[in-house]
Amino acid sequence: MNLQRSYLADFVSLLFPELCVACRESLVANEHLLCTDCRYNLPYTNFHLLPDNIVARQFWAKIKLEAAVALFYFTKGGKIQNLMHQFKYNGMHQIGNLLGNMAGEQLNKNEIFNTVDFIIPVPLHKKRLKERGYNQSACFAEGLAAKLNAVVEDNNLVRAKSTETQTHKSRFARFENMQEVFAVSNPEKLINKHVLLVDDVITTGSTLEACGEQLLKVPGLKLSIATIAYAE
Ligand SMILES: [Zn+2]
Repeated sequence: MNLQRSYLADFVSLLFPELCVACRESLVANEHLLCTDCRYNLPYTNFHLLPDNIVARQFWAKIKLEAAVALFYFTKGGKIQNLMHQFKYNGMHQIGNLLGNMAGEQLNKNEIFNTVDFIIPVPLHKKRLKERGYNQSACFAEGLAAKLNAVVEDNNLVRAKSTETQTHKSRFARFENMQEVFAVSNPEKLINKHVLLVDDVITTGSTLEACGEQLLKVPGLKLSIATIAYAE
């Protein structure tokens, strides 16, 4: 940027200061999306240092994982809720890339996560994708991939429509049938690979479990999980 344009940028930012996506304070020069205070003091979980952390434990006795982490704790009314709102509902898809980079910098020092071959985002409902214009988990995956030297595999895990007719089912069976169904479209590519499955926020873990079950049908596939936030 030349000097004149830099003055202009400073002038514009005086009129319309860019705000931190987590605390809503004005950003200063050289800060982007997050202020320096938030960057250091957001509620990091450090789950990458705790192999039997609470997210990993959620999957014990359900699906076999190499490792599972979440970058932040999510609390109602907290900074991570602000940040996730900007990310998901205000069109700020670049937040995903930043958080992916931040998580990747933690994980690339970890001997399990640095063997990841492919990163697969949980697919978004088609309707949601159309409304939002981007899959937030895919944005996070892109940022992670850059730091983990892995490849984002975006169209291999898909939401499959249940073809069973619901007319003659009991109420309970209909409910079961409404549960999300996922499928792996190109399993050959994932044989004997280490796949990192990613999502935005983990609560009950049921979506990740449903995705994981399908991925683990691929011979020799090793599975790990990473999410942006963990909500109790
Ligand atoms: Zn801030």
